[in-house]
Amino acid sequence: GPSASGKGTLSRRLAAEFGCVYVDTGAMYRTLAWWALQTGLRCQKPMSDADELAIVRLMRRWKAEVRVIDGQAWLHVNGYLPATEIRSDRVERAVPVVAQITKVRDWMVARQRDCTVLGPLVMEGRDIGTEVFPLAPVKFFLEADEAVRQARLSGRGNTESIGATRDAMDA
Ligand code: C5P
Repeated sequence: GPSASGKGTLSRRLAAEFGCVYVDTGAMYRTLAWWALQTGLRCQKPMSDADELAIVRLMRRWKAEVRVIDGQAWLHVNGYLPATEIRSDRVERAVPVVAQITKVRDWMVARQRDCTVLGPLVMEGRDIGTEVFPLAPVKFFLEADEAVRQARLSGRGNTESIGATRDAMDA
């Protein structure tokens, strides 16, 4: 489902209830966007082939690994977990740009599938039921009223325009 539709809240609670590891795939894309910005790469539309290549190269070199903390799988970069940083407006703007790169998606999908070694999963994201685990035994698609979504977004300190732009790009 789209941003602020309640995916995170529901997934986290389902994972806790059923003793599954929770995987927030949006956090994985955000972590790459954060790291790309940290290293000075351009993450804005329009992206040239060279801009995209720089991000793909970065992703081939970075020391990224998934570690489980309190039942949640988190992508760490060089042993660091950028939990707060990935919620910033800068990252919010950069993430849909980075997430549109095919090789980025291929890398993320492969890492998400690797998460099955962690045990039973509740995995949350836009393409999990269609792309990552098309044979998943249980799938949910969430929708929420526009007013509810906007209230949730502003409650997180995100401006409406960033949320709307991100959803349009993700779609
Ligand atoms: O779920 P969240 O809103 O934190 O996701 C952040 C961004 O990561 C999305 O706006 C989208 O660009 C990207 N994303 C994606 N595929 C996923 C999860 C997130 O492209 N499975």
